[in-house]
Amino acid sequence: EIPHAKVDKEFDIPNRPPVMCPGCPHRAVFHVLSRMKVRVSGDIGCYTLGALPPYNAVDACVCMGASVSMAHGMAKAGDGIPTVAVIGDSTFIHSGITSLIDIAYNKGNSTVIILDNSITGMTGHQHNPTTGYTIRGEEAPRVNLVKLAEAIGVKRVFVIDPFNMKEFRKLVEEEIDKDETSVIIAQRPCALLKTVNYGKPVYIDQEACRKCGNCMRLGCPTIYKEDDEYRIDEALCAGCKLCTDMCAFGAIKKEEQR
Ligand code: SF4
Ligand code: SF4
Repeated sequence: EIPHAKVDKEFDIPNRPPVMCPGCPHRAVFHVLSRMKVRVSGDIGCYTLGALPPYNAVDACVCMGASVSMAHGMAKAGDGIPTVAVIGDSTFIHSGITSLIDIAYNKGNSTVIILDNSITGMTGHQHNPTTGYTIRGEEAPRVNLVKLAEAIGVKRVFVIDPFNMKEFRKLVEEEIDKDETSVIIAQRPCALLKTVNYGKPVYIDQEACRKCGNCMRLGCPTIYKEDDEYRIDEALCAGCKLCTDMCAFGAIKKEEQR
């Protein structure tokens, strides 16, 4: 529950806490991190919303770029708690690079997760140096995050689609165990980009649904419970199908299965 989102019952105004969009690639990252015993050093962008329920997965957030340097500081302080830094592609370019150099140069063992959604998200939806276009949409040199991390001296650099939640979790678990710097580039485009089209919305087959509520834990604003039934608002659903992985009973179905 979000304390500041409470409203006076006298006014029948529904709570509308800020949430990641339907189809957001960051949802998978924070769902996974929220289920791991890992400390998350967060940063500024859409993904700061990972601090809110149902994830509650961001433990610290100070200013742009600080996620990486804070993770390094926490690792050097040596309290033994596995820590990852989570930073968006645009914020990493803005002020995360210097901290990654700091980690590599000082032989740190932090794991840095760069959320590469191919755009600057809620802070303007403009291009940035990782997209290959200027803010006016003209072609521009594109920063290759893999090559950049390698040039900095990071040997363990991975690119993964966070929607493969099992693989993503496995990779994070492996990397926080390593005694050297790792960079994991979680790559999937922002659902609001014109180039992203997941297709038709999914729906919950009420006969197959066992009412376990597991799909709600994903925090997609499209999934809701009403009259003791779990439902998907098909007008809002982006059709990303991430939620189908949450249902062990196959009750979340594609339009073709209707
Ligand atoms: S996870 Fe599946 S069975 Fe459980 S409430 Fe959601 S749709 Fe129903
Ligand atoms: S497919 Fe599932 S997770 Fe994706 S937007 Fe629709 S309800 Fe949300």
